[in-house]
Amino acid sequence: MNHKDLSSVVTALSQANRVLFITGAGVSEESGIPTYRGIGGIYNQKLKNGMEVEELLSISSFNTNPHLVWKYIYEMENRCRNALPNRGHYIIAKMEEFLPYVLVVTQNVDGLHRKAGSKNLIELHGYIYNLKCTGCGKETEVSDFSHIDIPPYCSECGGIIRPDVVFFGETLPVKKYYRLISEIKDGFDIVFSVGTSSLFSYVSLPVYEIKNRGGLTVEINPSFTSISHIVDIKITMEAGPALSLIWENYRQRFKIK
Ligand SMILES: [Zn+2]
Repeated sequence: MNHKDLSSVVTALSQANRVLFITGAGVSEESGIPTYRGIGGIYNQKLKNGMEVEELLSISSFNTNPHLVWKYIYEMENRCRNALPNRGHYIIAKMEEFLPYVLVVTQNVDGLHRKAGSKNLIELHGYIYNLKCTGCGKETEVSDFSHIDIPPYCSECGGIIRPDVVFFGETLPVKKYYRLISEIKDGFDIVFSVGTSSLFSYVSLPVYEIKNRGGLTVEINPSFTSISHIVDIKITMEAGPALSLIWENYRQRFKIK
């Protein structure tokens, strides 16, 4: 990150009333969580049975073969069990403490933003440890999947339980979507798009909207994405190191411990 960009971001942060973070898998990479789509993600390739991950983790697969889908979800969860938030998550949570208004919109289902202390948070795709019965709708939260049977059945109605996440082929939960729309309507002074390929329109359109309304748009991503050409500042770095640089600089300039 060059000095001019760093200085612009820090100055804008110091003047901002409303700051938006849109985050994706790249934020959790440093915590050891593999990305589905990113470079080198273990689920980047076709799965052993020849299915694409989008096909396997879809609602139609879940409806026809919940056991198979649960098996993969369980394997994924097993690899990331005990993952902890990293400096990227903590810095974003810290900013919420110090800045007037910070909203985090994440596509990650790993819960690491909430673990790091972010409170004003929209988990667009859900949270892997929230489970929901497909029969009676009963919800439970578990700390991990070590004690669940695959697939789990509801003790109340015998229905199959699913993780309360958005599968491929499903739409976003309506309430969360409308909250996002209404937040965007209220405007943001800065938006940071961090570690996301911005493939979904509901995470790229807010960046366009904020730019059109005169907000500063910043992308932190080592790769080039669908929004790289329109953002005001493109930071070609991983999330953790980039956010550390920005926050260190902010703290020094404004004498925050
Ligand atoms: Zn039930």
